[in-house]
Amino acid sequence: MTEEFYDVIILGAGPAGLQAALHAVRRKVSVLVIGEIAKSSAFRAHIENFCCLEGGSGSEMLQLARSKAEASGAGFLEEDVMSLDREEDVYIVEMESNQRLKTHALVLAMGVSRKTLGLSGEKGLVGKGVSYCVDCDGPLYRDEPVAIVGGGSAAVSGAMTMGSYTSEIHLICNKLDVGKQLAQSLKDSDVIVHEGRKVTNIKGDDTVTGVLLDDDTELTVNGLFIELGAKGAVELAGNLGVILDDTMQYIAVNKKQETNLPGVYAAGDICGPPWQVAKSVGEGCVAGLEVAAYARRRKSRTI
Ligand SMILES: Cc1cc2nc3c(=O)[nH]c(=O)nc-3n(C[C@H](O)[C@H](O)[C@H](O)COP(=O)(O)OP(=O)(O)OC[C@H]3O[C@@H](n4cnc5c(N)ncnc54)[C@H](O)[C@@H]3O)c2cc1C
Repeated sequence: MTEEFYDVIILGAGPAGLQAALHAVRRKVSVLVIGEIAKSSAFRAHIENFCCLEGGSGSEMLQLARSKAEASGAGFLEEDVMSLDREEDVYIVEMESNQRLKTHALVLAMGVSRKTLGLSGEKGLVGKGVSYCVDCDGPLYRDEPVAIVGGGSAAVSGAMTMGSYTSEIHLICNKLDVGKQLAQSLKDSDVIVHEGRKVTNIKGDDTVTGVLLDDDTELTVNGLFIELGAKGAVELAGNLGVILDDTMQYIAVNKKQETNLPGVYAAGDICGPPWQVAKSVGEGCVAGLEVAAYARRRKSRTI
């Protein structure tokens, strides 16, 4: 079994991990990026709201970022990490292939996976009416009727945001679960709330035309935003001892993208909403600079 050592290991080949790699590798440290660009949330996305992308192709953006990081000297391993461990100040990354990699400095940029409704047809209608991100796709439904699923702050804030684009907004949830202020804003708005209901069917073959609720109400909508939060993003980090934020869903970081563990940084969606390329790239830049500085200090044994 090989046990290679890298100055910096970055988990995740999405916008956050790739930007972190680009910044770290230029600080003369050895950098390995683990993950696949095809598994990034951005790979199949059409991204209109990132300032530096022409045409909106997420896959082209990721391929370009990967080529740049590779050309600058970063190594890539397209495999999944199975577990993370720590022996004193050495972090051990265990791969699918049983390979073990070692480092003193890690960046966690594994993204999140959105919770889905799990309804038939949902997957095929993503990008054709079904969306998991009001901030990304809300403006595409200007003056069109939409439904938002979820009772938490992401869904309710999403409904309020949609109010600046369109007037017919349905919010569908089992139970509203937001603070007083957001609950009052919702009450004062024109959003039509269907509390205690769930979506049982998404209507439409090529694009969304409506949704059916469990009381047989049919709503005619062109957009369905599923804002139920994220899952499974932070298990690896949690096992390592990384502290999560108050929601217990995301990694807690400071302005240097440092976690509670020495030499462990996090960036991108895994640190919480807004789940956006621009935020991921910004955090990746900070994490890349900071982790490289840490690795260099560690190498010269000043810490
Ligand atoms: C349909 C859709 C549309 C979107 N539209 C927009 C938009 O218009 N504008 C916008 O700004 N944002 C948009 N987003 C959000 C955007 O894609 C994300 O905010 C961004 O990709 C997050 O970057 P990230 O690097 O944090 O994570 P990701 O891009 O999700 O990358 C995660 C990386 O981690 C790796 N990984 C995960 N687990 C492991 C593991 N165990 N071992 C090894 N590697 C692992 C994966 O292989 C992947 O490379 C959209 C997302 C979706 C799903």
